[in-house]
Amino acid sequence: MIPGLSGAGSLTPEDLQDLRVGARLDVALMERIICEKFHLNIQTGDSEVKPHADARAQQALSQIANPLFGVSTRKNLTWRTLLSDSEEINACTPGGGFVILHQGLIRQCAREAELASVIAHEVGHIEHRHAIRRLLSEAVLKEFEIEVDFDEIQQKRLNDSRHIEKVLQVVEEILFTSFTRLWEHEADAFIIRSFLRTGYPVSQASHFFHTLSRLFGPQKSGICLYGSHPDNLDRIRRIESLASTYQSVPNKPDSDAFTYLRSI
Ligand SMILES: [Zn+2]
Repeated sequence: MIPGLSGAGSLTPEDLQDLRVGARLDVALMERIICEKFHLNIQTGDSEVKPHADARAQQALSQIANPLFGVSTRKNLTWRTLLSDSEEINACTPGGGFVILHQGLIRQCAREAELASVIAHEVGHIEHRHAIRRLLSEAVLKEFEIEVDFDEIQQKRLNDSRHIEKVLQVVEEILFTSFTRLWEHEADAFIIRSFLRTGYPVSQASHFFHTLSRLFGPQKSGICLYGSHPDNLDRIRRIESLASTYQSVPNKPDSDAFTYLRSI
């Protein structure tokens, strides 16, 4: 199904490296187009994700996210946020520089650092290309009975292809399912890197996961996964262990942008 690869099963990072080196499949182009289409579908009301109507709140979220976006090495992406009106305590990303935060999650953030940790976690997924890597998993495509003509995508006719609609169906599905445990830990580690670069205290990097523990119990994690792993205690332990290897800076006051977001 995927040029250059044989057999069933998920792609490994090594396979993806081959794809990039071999350049037979333009993964970056595919990620960008999927992200653009997904964003467009939200704007036109053709997505399950509905934008929050408060333009000032949208701007406030973007203001908090921008320095965190700057930590990523993927400088050529169109980085942007969307505040959705959902009351779910969750956040997600289709990749490509696009981060979606639900209003329900923001209500649970006591301090700006908690919101920053969630955004940084999503940026971590984008930094490591988790969404497109999951999408390219043959197992996922099989699960949703999707046949994608990668030769057609390679020829850059994705925009007017019927395949993009099928791919988008999968994107919507995977947005609300879990990434692998390893990928969640990779994204969590990115919180520490982001905090060190943007001046949030690393001692607060795990705070939102403590909030989730209080809300959902120690086993269940609510951030961009409603699956069963990794559990909250495990990720709190890992984040705090990594954070303890760095000197934390003092707390910084919450910004006006955060205060506004909490007031809506
Ligand atoms: Zn995640």
